[in-house]
Parts: sequence; structure tokens; C-alpha cells
Amino acid sequence: MSRESTVVHQQYINGEFVSGTGDESFTSENPATGETLGTFERGTTADIERAIESANAAFEEWRNLSHIRRAEYLWEIYHELKERTDELGEIVTKECGKEISEGRADVVEAAHMVEWAAGDARHPHGDVVPSEIPSKDAYMRRKPVGTIGCITPWNFPVAIPFWHMAVALVEGNTVVWKPAEQTPLCGQVIAEMFDAAGIPDGVFNMVQGFGDAGAEIVDSAAIDSVLFTGSAEVGHEIAGKVAQQPGTTCACEMGGKNAVLVTEKADLDIAVHSAVMSSFKTTGQRCVSSERLIVHEDVYDEFKSRYVELAENVAVGNPLAEDTFMGPLIEERQVERFVEYNQLARDEGATVLVDRAELDPAEIPDGHEDGNWVGPFVYEIDYDDAGELRSIREEVFAPHVALLKYSGDIERGVEIQNDTPYGLAGAIISEDYRQINYYRDHAEVGLSYGNLPCIGAEVHLPFGGVKKSGNGYPSAREVIEAVTERTAWTLNNSKDIEMAQGLSADITTDN
Ligand code: NAD
Repeated sequence: MSRESTVVHQQYINGEFVSGTGDESFTSENPATGETLGTFERGTTADIERAIESANAAFEEWRNLSHIRRAEYLWEIYHELKERTDELGEIVTKECGKEISEGRADVVEAAHMVEWAAGDARHPHGDVVPSEIPSKDAYMRRKPVGTIGCITPWNFPVAIPFWHMAVALVEGNTVVWKPAEQTPLCGQVIAEMFDAAGIPDGVFNMVQGFGDAGAEIVDSAAIDSVLFTGSAEVGHEIAGKVAQQPGTTCACEMGGKNAVLVTEKADLDIAVHSAVMSSFKTTGQRCVSSERLIVHEDVYDEFKSRYVELAENVAVGNPLAEDTFMGPLIEERQVERFVEYNQLARDEGATVLVDRAELDPAEIPDGHEDGNWVGPFVYEIDYDDAGELRSIREEVFAPHVALLKYSGDIERGVEIQNDTPYGLAGAIISEDYRQINYYRDHAEVGLSYGNLPCIGAEVHLPFGGVKKSGNGYPSAREVIEAVTERTAWTLNNSKDIEMAQGLSADITTDN
């Protein structure tokens, strides 16, 4: 679906689509064809300020509604996501290039997130806590923090915004959202859904734009919490700024240099299947994609030959076709980054096993010559204990995959797995429960999988990393921590004042 080329889509502020203050616009391009999907106003400082003002003004009234009433607006959106899954999945695929089952899954994940948040409105929202003093009632209660700034990436352009916004809104906060500049059409469609749901003016605001607009949200003293999902470079900058602003909090979820660990006890059918999905699904552009395959020497040769054969043959093509496995990369800049890291691996001593970085013209589907096409790039390289190889420690975000052979026990495999500043996701393939449990307890990751690909998320599980990959969990249950304040509330049911810990409540005077 492409919108009329003459239409310049506006910002959504204070309950309506309005023209921003800037005079610049930008376009959304289909990464598989280069076709323009729409034109969008580029948000300015003044637009962000206006959106934040309207969110601040709407807060009191919104927080005074019950959780259940607030959730009713989200249920409207849930039904729309369910009814329009195929249509919206196609928009996702056209705008970000993921093959069509992934486009639909993005919308389904968004629906699940909204379902979880709206359903949670009827669940308990605090704790009743025993007091040392029998006449006291003690509770932990939660309050919304205020206006939440949401900044999201392009690779899950429908699901991730709802990870951020669904819980934030049901908990009583108002929102200013900046979608990724690569996927503004998905942003437009989501804003239209909030508009159709009749959400009160100012509760949800969206400003389209680039990193400068995101930075305005972060810098604003009138934002109470920032939810960010994206690259480590940007996320760390945001966390650093927010740390200088007392009273503002942030939850940042970022990238990874994830690995699949294949031990000598692995079932190689599971290992090869899992590794191919982990490294090439979404053309390697999932935050959990694996760019490292750490394989025990006893099974290395067989694993390598089977993996390489599949990497040589995985179907790259039109992402709207059901039989495509890999679509294009998101943009030209990302193709350049991929090519640079492939060269870096060579410079660092890699032996290249598969190089489909530049696809044969015959592999590019008709009418798609202007797409950002690449295929898998796979190499083997000696693992370096000194930590000097950048190619096996830095996130490329593309189908750039290193095979690392190891010898020794599970402890050695996990040591290599942990040798990266990131800590997002990892998988172990083994038939030995002791190895699996050792991995579970010692791999430095926030998400881990046993005998499965290193991808996949269900919205009611925490989704976030450790180390350089994350400092919070902007999804489902865990996002509640980022968008609410806790109050410890104690009420005395007695006429006497009695203190915990044996503290005297007597007031003595000189007389
Ligand atoms: P990105 O960091 O370039 O951009 C993310 C968002 O931040 C965009 O909306 C962008 O406009 C905005 N932004 C850019 N500079 C900013 C600044 N200085 N201040 C405020 N906002 C700014 O990331 P991307 O290319 O859109 O997404 C890919 C990255 O996201 C990868 O590193 C991937 O691993 C990561 N990611 C992480 C998760 C997760 O849950 N951990 C999920 C998806 C993607």
C-alpha cells in the first residue's frame, strides 16, 4: 500500500493530525524496490514541545480514569490489530523488508502486547504487606509517573511501539512517541488507530522525525520517563543524559553480539536448523540475531558443511512472496556497513566460507533492482583470547556470521559466549542437561534458549539484555516498573502510635 504521493502526512498532537512548524519532509522507501511509500513532515523542536505540553495537560484527567476504563481504548486497538493483521503485515513487510510471515508476526505480537496490557487492568496492582505492628495496614501502591517519551527502532515497527505504549497508557501515563525514520508509515497507521479509538486528546501524541527529534524528547525537563529501544550507541547516550536529570528515569533495550553454542553433545539437526534461523531470519536484523556460532571441535566439520550448504542456498527474494526466507537490508547505509564489516573480518584473518554479499543479478527478483539486496556472509576465524578482533565483538546487524571452533568443556564454550561487551541473547544446543544447566546459570544474557533458535519473544516473558545490551525491560510486566512509581503506604488503625523495630514513640519532656 502506498499513500498518495502528493499527501504529506502530519504529526498527531493533542487529538488531531496537525501541520508541524518545520518546512522539511522525508519519505519512506520500500527497501525491496526503492518505491516511495509516503511523505512525512519532519518534526522540529517546537513540534516536540507542543506534543509534550499536550501530553502534560492531558495527564490529570487520564490518570483519574480507572485502569479498566483506560484499557477500553486499548481493546479497540486490539480488535483492529486482529482484524487487519494481513493488511498491516503487508505494510510492515513493504516498509521494512521482512518476509511476509515476519510482517504478520509483528502485528500479531503487537496485538498480544495490547491484550496483555489491557487484560492486566483487571489484575492486582500492588501488594498488601504484613506490618510488625498488628494495628497497622501496609501496602505497596503504584502511581503513573506522568508523560512518557517513547523512541522506537524500525525493525519491529508495530510490535515495539506497543511494548512501550500499551502498558504505559493503561497504567495512567500519557505518551509522546517518535517512530523510527525508516518506518513512518507504520507510525501513521498506529496514530490513525488511536484516533479512531477516540483516545482523549493529548493522551497519545506522535511526532515523526529523526534522531534530533528523539533527542528533544530526552532533553525535555517535562518528560518523566524515557523508553528507548534501538542501538547501544544511542541508548547509552540517552541513559547518560537522563542520569543528569534527577527525577527522570529511562529504560533502554539495545543490541547484541549474540551466539549459538553447539556442544559436542548436540543433535546436529537441531543445531543446523537453529543456527540458520538465528543468523538469517530478518536478514540478520533482529536484536537477537546471532553473528557468532561457537561450535565444539568434535562436531565442527559436520556442522560447518551442513550450515554452509544451507547458507549458500537460503532463498533471498521478494519479501511479499511466501517462499522467501530473507528480504533486503533496511537501507543503503546498512549495506555499506555490512560490506565494511565483511572486509574487516577478512583483514582480521577470516577464512571466508560463503560470500553472497553481492548477489548475482539473476537472484534479484524482477522489478526489484533498486532494493538493498545482500545474501549471507559466513567465515571461520580463530577465536582470540586477547579480545582484539572487532568482527566477533561488534554488532553488524546483517547476515554476517562467524564460526568459532572451540575445544574443551562446557565452561570453555560459555567463556567464549560471554566474551563480548553485549549480553542480550544466546542459545545452547546440547542433549546433556548438565551442559544446558551450566549454560543457563553462567551465560551472561538476558534471554536464552535451549535447543531452539536464538530468536523469539512472547510478550508475557521479560525481554531485555544485561551488560551493554540493556538497563531495563521495556516490555510487558517489567515495563510497569519503568512507568510507575511505588508508594509504600502505612495506615494506623489504632489511636496509639506504635513504631516498628521497637522504636520508642514516647515524647519525654524535662518535667
Ligand atoms: P537506532 O538507535 O539508530 O534508532 C532507534 C531510534 O532512536 C530511532 O527512532 C531514531 O530516530 C532514534 N534516535 C537516533 N538518534 C537519537 C538520539 N541521539 N537521541 C534520541 N533518539 C535518537 O536503532 P535502529 O537502527 O532503528 O535499530 C536497530 C538497533 O536496535 C540494533 O542495534 C538492534 O539490536 C536494536 N534493537 C534492540 C531491541 C531490543 O529489544 N533489545 C529490539 C529491536 C532492535
